[in-house]
Amino acid sequence: MDRDRSSRYLQAMGVQVWRRRGEENGTGECAEASGLAGSLMAGDPALCPTEVASEPPTRETTEAVPSDTPAAMGWEQLHGAVTSCRACELCETRTQTVFGVGNRGADLMIIGEAPGADEDRQGEPFVGRAGQLLNLMLQAIGLKREQVYIANILKCRPPGNRDPRPQEAQRCEPYLMRQIALVRPRVLLSVGRISAQNLLRTVAPIGRLRGCWHEFGPDRTPLMVTYHPAYLLRSPDQKSRAWQDLLQVARRLRDRAGN
Ligand code: SF4
Repeated sequence: MDRDRSSRYLQAMGVQVWRRRGEENGTGECAEASGLAGSLMAGDPALCPTEVASEPPTRETTEAVPSDTPAAMGWEQLHGAVTSCRACELCETRTQTVFGVGNRGADLMIIGEAPGADEDRQGEPFVGRAGQLLNLMLQAIGLKREQVYIANILKCRPPGNRDPRPQEAQRCEPYLMRQIALVRPRVLLSVGRISAQNLLRTVAPIGRLRGCWHEFGPDRTPLMVTYHPAYLLRSPDQKSRAWQDLLQVARRLRDRAGN
């Protein structure tokens, strides 16, 4: 992606873009980007020392599974199962389920927390202001929203946007695990504390989880944690850190595309 276009998206995100001295004629590059790119040239950072509380969820079992369980379902059957799901109390208060959206063969899969009010109304994850910021973040690394697959830990909105309860996340998990198994992404991007803690089975704070690589599932899919766009809207000073995480994702996608 050309630097000017990336810089425009970064400015739209609210990430300060600096020009190198002597490069104010439009040929300079973003200081945030160039600094990190330089550090990445020395190799990816080590895997995060995640505090794992229990075994991470597996993407799918190798044992024979009944055809009516999510692990055995194709896309349409899975979608139907989610739409009619009443496995936790959130079915009582949802407007509709929010299954997931995007390219079902995507290299990058983004996993958020749970639907908010806008998502509950529209039936699509990451819409509204947070969704617009996510779109800008993707565009800044040269990706369109339609090129990635986006899903949440929960498919139904918790009332009042409260945090998902452990039992709700547990009940909903088979759907997400099947989505990951069907997409088979090259890279996973976990956005927000709830997403990261559930996927990685940890209670570590997001500040300790972001910025380095984790591995997910039996395929050891590279997983990066970053801040949720809704949090970035409230804490714009953290946007440069999110940008650093995204740059690592972009580089890993490029590397893996070459394999
Ligand atoms: S949140 Fe998940 S488990 Fe609960 S009712 Fe919705 S789809 Fe079912």
